Amino acid sequence: MSDKILILEDEVGIRSFVAINLKREGYEVIEAQNGQEALEKISENNIKIALLDVMLPDINGTDVCKYIRQNFENVGIIMLTAKSQEEDKIEGFMSGADDYIIKPFSIKELLFRINALLRRVKKDEEVLDTNKVVLPPFILDLDKRKLFKNNKEIELTPTELAIVKYLMDNTKKSLSREQILQEVWGNNSLYDFKIVDVNIRRIRNKIEDDPSKPKYIQTVWGYGYCFRKE
Ligand code: CA
Repeated sequence: MSDKILILEDEVGIRSFVAINLKREGYEVIEAQNGQEALEKISENNIKIALLDVMLPDINGTDVCKYIRQNFENVGIIMLTAKSQEEDKIEGFMSGADDYIIKPFSIKELLFRINALLRRVKKDEEVLDTNKVVLPPFILDLDKRKLFKNNKEIELTPTELAIVKYLMDNTKKSLSREQILQEVWGNNSLYDFKIVDVNIRRIRNKIEDDPSKPKYIQTVWGYGYCFRKE
């Protein structure tokens, strides 16, 4: 069965262009031209990846993103953004999204990002060998692909989980943002470091006692990040 990808985009030219090319790659494509239609189709279909335009006539794409994240935690989300939105609003439109791509984009780049995200989403669904990373107060359960802090489950997106796993597997090392990009997104030349920082900030909000004074995921200035044991 082919993977289902939703494209939410009100500009018909972009929507058809993406849909035709994804179908050619063997994906099943579900099209939505406004937020309401997207919400209905997400509820009716087992979507693997959602491509969400930010500027829409009815609901803001970031609200669609939040809705998906709250209700379908394992859907991969890529935001389609305009250049003007990129500068100052990454935080806002990244609310729960795994990735973003700036218009105009090439199909080659979009496909690369979809494939990279699909690998993370599918890893989340796999049953792996019995394996736990125990770093008190955290337990990363690789069977269930879940993170626990003091035995309380912390909800992480597939991308956030991949980052936490990489950091926890390398507790003695400082990891550069290039290394994190390469490990988690698969190709560091296509991406901006900001996506690493945005995800780290979101993870800190979920796992740190005080996200403004992180003690588990520490910043290595001018380099990257390091996971510290208690
Ligand atoms: Ca639009």
